[in-house]
Amino acid sequence: GLTGIQTLLLSRIRDVADHPEPGVMFKDITPLLADPAAFSALSDVLSGIARSTGATKIVGLEARGFILGAPVAVRAGLGFIPVRKAGKLPGATLSQAYDLEYGSAEIEVHAEDLTERDRVLVIDDVLATGGTAEASLKLIRRAGAEVVGLAVLMELGFLGGRARVEPALAGAPLEAL
Ligand code: AMP
Repeated sequence: GLTGIQTLLLSRIRDVADHPEPGVMFKDITPLLADPAAFSALSDVLSGIARSTGATKIVGLEARGFILGAPVAVRAGLGFIPVRKAGKLPGATLSQAYDLEYGSAEIEVHAEDLTERDRVLVIDDVLATGGTAEASLKLIRRAGAEVVGLAVLMELGFLGGRARVEPALAGAPLEAL
């Protein structure tokens, strides 16, 4: 069964059929963001994960990982590092390409934001195919930092993202709320 917090979070996620294209059931978190009790409860749970993993930095994945990750960083007293789509960050970056269903994509991080001393918790809203998360984990490792976990609000289990990210997690936990 679901916990009270899971029931609250689930009640604030809206399923939108055929967005942004036919056949996709889009998980819209804007009702959750608009509800201070739900957003605060989510930030609390994620901050607890940040503390228990011993994270020193929070990485948020563009764009909804920024919204969910930033309050966690503030609550846990940690720095927030954005992983962005290619071409957005102004400084020296490390980049990582990955395959999409059709074509490919690329994400970047400022090279100076992660060091060998960092223990990183990655946060995003939805784990779908796992391609984005897997690429971010590779990027963080290439920057020399350690990955201590991946936390997502939702995992779309039928897309197999968990299996895709597991090698890059190398034993670190995947927490899907
Ligand atoms: P993927 O790389 O396939 O795991 O896709 C993950 C990224 O796409 C996340 O940053 C999500 O925000 C977004 N995403 C993928 N599928 C959905 C969905 N059904 N509803 C909402 N967001 C999604």
